[in-house]
Amino acid sequence: MKTIKTTPIAAVLREPDKFTGREVDVKGWVRTRRGNKNVQFVALNDGSTIKNLQIVFDLTRFSDDDLKAIATGASIHVQGELVASQGKGQSVEVQASELEVYGTADPEKYPLQKKGHSLEFLREIAHLRPRTNTFGAVLRIRHALAFAVHKFFNDKGFYYFHTPLITASDCEGAGAMFQVTTLDMENPPRTEDGKVDYSQDFFGRHASLTVSGQLEGELGATALGCIYTFGPTFRAENSNTPRHLSEFWMIEPEMAFYEIEDNMDLAEEFIKYCIGYALEHCSDDIDFLAEHFDKDLKERLDFVVRNDFVRLPYSEGIKILEESGKKFEFPVYWGVDLASEHERFLVEEHFRKPVILTDYPKEIKAFYMKLNDDGKTVRAMDVLFPKIGEIIGGSQREESLEKLQQRVDELGLSGMEWYLDTRRFGSVPHSGFGLGFERLVLFVTGMQNIRDVIPFPRYPNNCEY
Ligand code: ATP
Ligand code: MN
Repeated sequence: MKTIKTTPIAAVLREPDKFTGREVDVKGWVRTRRGNKNVQFVALNDGSTIKNLQIVFDLTRFSDDDLKAIATGASIHVQGELVASQGKGQSVEVQASELEVYGTADPEKYPLQKKGHSLEFLREIAHLRPRTNTFGAVLRIRHALAFAVHKFFNDKGFYYFHTPLITASDCEGAGAMFQVTTLDMENPPRTEDGKVDYSQDFFGRHASLTVSGQLEGELGATALGCIYTFGPTFRAENSNTPRHLSEFWMIEPEMAFYEIEDNMDLAEEFIKYCIGYALEHCSDDIDFLAEHFDKDLKERLDFVVRNDFVRLPYSEGIKILEESGKKFEFPVYWGVDLASEHERFLVEEHFRKPVILTDYPKEIKAFYMKLNDDGKTVRAMDVLFPKIGEIIGGSQREESLEKLQQRVDELGLSGMEWYLDTRRFGSVPHSGFGLGFERLVLFVTGMQNIRDVIPFPRYPNNCEY
């Protein structure tokens, strides 16, 4: 091999004219190989783009062993001249002059031989599925969205605030928690009345994985002004739905001096920014997913970016549902926690737009939401999306110590003194929300199942790889 700098395939294909007539050095995995006894064509992919680079092997120059080595799944290093391609389907190709084989892949055993494996099958081999076109596209889009999240907030002067994953607080109220312990499960220490003695556990108390970083986020916001978190959260709820994971990533901005309207403006601007960023930077991947899974994908993304979201109080939403004449599986009445079918009716059939639903009954929302003057509803805001349902849950927070204390007492929550201190000392109006990152990725990729937009999904009865 000569010493030539390796070029990512994305860079070669972005500026083919620049490289044509020159020697290139590329490294990647063989996607497919076809040809005859004189010439073989390899589609090489290195993960930098959905597109493959065609490598032409003239068999007068390469041996049978070489040929065997360039089977689907093998990893290779190739040098050769980039030339205009005669074939259809690509404008340039590499006329291979040198081949180095890093790793072969036995065609009898490599599971990704053919295109068009079902997503269900690929979930069973989740450790290899990043090598497929589909998952390559999804994972590149996922990366771009994560980058967009940081860019959006950084450009606005928000600080990235790291909240703990292990928490002793079990009243975050967002879902069932996974316990964290080093006690011997077979034979845990017991207190006199026979309960497990967590004072002898690692942290000297009962601990869990966090379901949300919000409460700690509020501590950050009441010092730094505007913060956001972006980290994994864990929910032990047994929801076997296409929109729930046991481990998912959440973005939780929290802003001092923001009222509910400011919160809604931020949420809408934020989502539109992220989608716009993906449209601008991931067009090849979005085109691929649109072509294979969802013809209306691009139109839907453009539509969301270009149109205002509807803003509607919960009570009016209930009225629309009641008057729709539609038979829902779950009954609709004032006070009900909306089911996905209700949310989707409002978004997909009634308004045909994203909807921000506000002012929910206090009974179905968390204790920290600001009570409205009617005494019945709170300043909650859920952002509802086509195909997804709830993508954001947020609210203005109760800043009055007295009212918050009353809710804490009503619900019998304990161990909240550290949180109540934010209201005791220099309390301010403030707001925030949580966006489920995978639900955003689901929307932007047009995939149907949340298990297909995270590399290693965790859900009930599945913790492989
Ligand atoms: P849902 O009603 O869909 O279960 P939630 O009301 O429990 O949502 P929040 O506690 O408000 O959700 O969490 C904020 C956001 O986190 C949600 O709007 C959603 O985007 C996301 N989210 C919540 N639970 C999950 C989950 N199990 N898997 C993936 N994302 C989730
Ligand atoms: Mn939930």
